[in-house]
Amino acid sequence: MQYHSTRGQVKEVGFIDAFLMGLATDGGLLVPSTIPVLTSEQLEEWRTFSFQDLMLAILSYYTNGEIPEDELKTMVYDSYSTFRHEEVTPVHKLTDDIYLLELFHGPTFAFKDIALQLMGQLYSYVAKKYNRPINILGATSGDTGASAIQGVRGKEGINICILHPNGKVSKVQELQMTTVQDENVLNLAVEGNFDDCQRMIKELFADVDFKSEHHLCAINSINIVRILAQTVYYFYAYFRVTDQRPELTGTPLHFSVPTGNFGDIFAGYLASRMGLPVGKLVLATNENNILERFVKEGVYKPDGFHTTYSPSMDIQVASNFERYLYYVLGENTEQTEAFMRKFKESGEIGVPEELLKQVQHDFASHGVIGAECLATITKYNDQVDYLLDPHSACGVAAAEQTLPAGEAVVSLATAHPAKFNESIELCEIKQEFPAPISALFDMPVKKTEVDGTIEQVVAELLPFYDRTKVK
Ligand SMILES: *Cc1c(COP(=O)(O)O)cnc(C)c1O
Repeated sequence: MQYHSTRGQVKEVGFIDAFLMGLATDGGLLVPSTIPVLTSEQLEEWRTFSFQDLMLAILSYYTNGEIPEDELKTMVYDSYSTFRHEEVTPVHKLTDDIYLLELFHGPTFAFKDIALQLMGQLYSYVAKKYNRPINILGATSGDTGASAIQGVRGKEGINICILHPNGKVSKVQELQMTTVQDENVLNLAVEGNFDDCQRMIKELFADVDFKSEHHLCAINSINIVRILAQTVYYFYAYFRVTDQRPELTGTPLHFSVPTGNFGDIFAGYLASRMGLPVGKLVLATNENNILERFVKEGVYKPDGFHTTYSPSMDIQVASNFERYLYYVLGENTEQTEAFMRKFKESGEIGVPEELLKQVQHDFASHGVIGAECLATITKYNDQVDYLLDPHSACGVAAAEQTLPAGEAVVSLATAHPAKFNESIELCEIKQEFPAPISALFDMPVKKTEVDGTIEQVVAELLPFYDRTKVK
């Protein structure tokens, strides 16, 4: 399996090179050259696999034979040994028809640990095997940063710098990043919002000389490995639901996904292209609803930025959208490039009617406003004694609003409620923090504040990279 860019100028890149490239050098995103399609018999063979073995089975299609099997196996098992649940991503039956896929049992209590624990192992592998310096650079709306830092803190040959919008991530998210004291971690607290952080990261990566001189690596969901790792739990959830409901085997199962950068839901789309029986992918957003408007109206156009109870979804321009656009355009790189160029020039993309039909076949969407989010948290806490975090609540609320009653849906629970206590308190619910989260409040903090200019970011980055450069 090789990879190429959605914009067509980067071709035939191997797995490790694709992993290291992150954003393609032509500004597009890397996609696999072909998507493996499983038969229902092959799919059934995977039913009894553990999460780890399912991950290995799926990765084996994508790693291009570049990593010896035993080494990949060690990495996968090490990645998920840090999880607090032996099933890694267990499924919890919330109601008769809503199944919660709990993705928050990793070190930072959010779903991003699933991909980023593995990527931490992969970066370590590459640093050792190829003796290549790794400088990870990323932007976060809160959870990616913490997960990525946990994935590589203290690892030899790796530096990580994370930009987060100062004061716009939750207290626990901030502490999870800034209480890490390892020398190889730099936290930049940026005056601005997540989109400002992401724009600066994109600019730095688009500067090909800067990127190669400093061996920059991306952990944002522009990295194809994140997407690949995230396909695994869609399969896992399908097996667990159909274990409980054998009559649903082989029929399309709906998934509801709290969405920001479109990475997680795109992984579901990929799983569906691989042959998993997926029904509707419910795209749950909050007031930052560019994607909801796209699914409903066929126009992709940012409007004002809103601060919400679900900050990890407070995103205007969704990086992974381009990957879906590429597929919905029939894998036509020229058209994808033209659409993205038009977006850059005019600030919006409109798709023709027949494409919109396809989009609406693949997705349903609902933007969950703040009051609805809190009401959903309260409702499930009162009725079934299950405390949803605000992101997971958006997923559940969107499923309720868009799907016919009585049809089974897997709703992705993307974070633990303790990460977002600010919102939980607004519901007048008192929660007990898990011990690893309570402990954060007594730890010393290390962060560097910068204004929203790229010059300031670079001024902090250069000495950080220099200190490990071989003189
Ligand atoms: C990142 C994140 C999301 C959004 O995921 P995307 O892949 O960016 O769409 C949703 N919920 C939580 C808790 C997150 O951390």
